[in-house]
Amino acid sequence: MKKEKILIVGAGLSGLYSAVLLQDLYDVEVLEARERTGGRILAIGGHDMGPSWVWGHQKNILQLIQTLGLELFSQNIKGLSVYDAPEGVQKFKAPVGAASYRIKGGLPQLISALEKRLHTPVRLNEKVISLAQSEEKIVLKTVSAYHEADKVIITLPPRLAIESIAYSPALSSSLVSQLQHIATWMGYAAKCVVEYSEAFWREEGLSGFGVSHLGPLGEIHDACTEDKAALFGFVHSYAKFDNFEEAVIGQLTRLYGKRAANPLAVYVVDWKKEQFTSTTLDHTPLKEHPSYGFEATHMDGKVLFAGTESALREGGYLEGAVVSAIKLAKSL
Ligand SMILES: Cc1cc2nc3c(=O)[nH]c(=O)nc-3n(C[C@H](O)[C@H](O)[C@H](O)COP(=O)(O)OP(=O)(O)OC[C@H]3O[C@@H](n4cnc5c(N)ncnc54)[C@H](O)[C@@H]3O)c2cc1C
Repeated sequence: MKKEKILIVGAGLSGLYSAVLLQDLYDVEVLEARERTGGRILAIGGHDMGPSWVWGHQKNILQLIQTLGLELFSQNIKGLSVYDAPEGVQKFKAPVGAASYRIKGGLPQLISALEKRLHTPVRLNEKVISLAQSEEKIVLKTVSAYHEADKVIITLPPRLAIESIAYSPALSSSLVSQLQHIATWMGYAAKCVVEYSEAFWREEGLSGFGVSHLGPLGEIHDACTEDKAALFGFVHSYAKFDNFEEAVIGQLTRLYGKRAANPLAVYVVDWKKEQFTSTTLDHTPLKEHPSYGFEATHMDGKVLFAGTESALREGGYLEGAVVSAIKLAKSL
């Protein structure tokens, strides 16, 4: 018997894992707007520029990492932290929080391991523009082609799903309002990684963790990989400097001493500027982690909305993306 055709929109963690879970029962294809897979998971120069961490209580992502044969290592927290106070730098012993872990080789390892398991390769550069119901089928239009499916799964951040895709019949105003209120997790963030030849802060008894209200970086962490020394920081939302790179190096030198003055490279990704992640509504920083989780369908249940923000547990996080894919696979 011919399998039902399912098109998955978005090749982030939710979309790819959904495809892996569904592909034995359905004829599955993934359409991705960018020229790369991974969505908010991205590495440049071997450094994670999107997510870095998973935590010990996040059972589903940990299970997936193990199943895919990937290895974890602990975030470095050994040593004192620094506080970038207006009256001078202060060193302090940060309270020990929940242990966090990173994937050896970076988070894109997770994406490429999932992609290797796909029966059909992801279709890149296929930004979905519209969905229309046509008798029993859904006709999906991208920038370069038309596709037909029995069901469509949308794994975009909810605000993007309503702003960038046209629906015929149109979404109800209550669904539009519901999805519009769901902020894209980290859609306002910018991350900066500064690479060095050595992790000199470790030699000086510092963990690499720092907090600053002066900026440009607000929260700084050790970002060393197996073969590279680095610090990373989230850029303050109000950071406006004529020469951003110079200001960051100046700040790190203030905090970690003169060995910080000569980095090998500085990488920055401003997620607000990523048209396939963030909407203008997402540019305002969130004061806290929103309570995520929703269920939404359209076109007689043939179009399903998923993605990390749809997960009731750990929504917004990588764990939420995995939970969303598992929930979706069980519901079909
Ligand atoms: C700076 C930063 C730091 C983070 N830190 C952490 C962390 O340490 N730990 C953690 O657990 N989580 C963290 N997160 C969150 C984590 O990245 C997300 O939870 C996860 O990657 C979301 O996966 P997703 O598949 O649901 O969504 P996405 O990754 O956003 O995937 C959606 C996909 O849809 C594609 N797309 C968009 N529009 C279209 C269209 N019209 N047509 C086709 N495709 C389209 C996108 O290109 C993308 O590939 C962080 C995120 C950022 C940005």
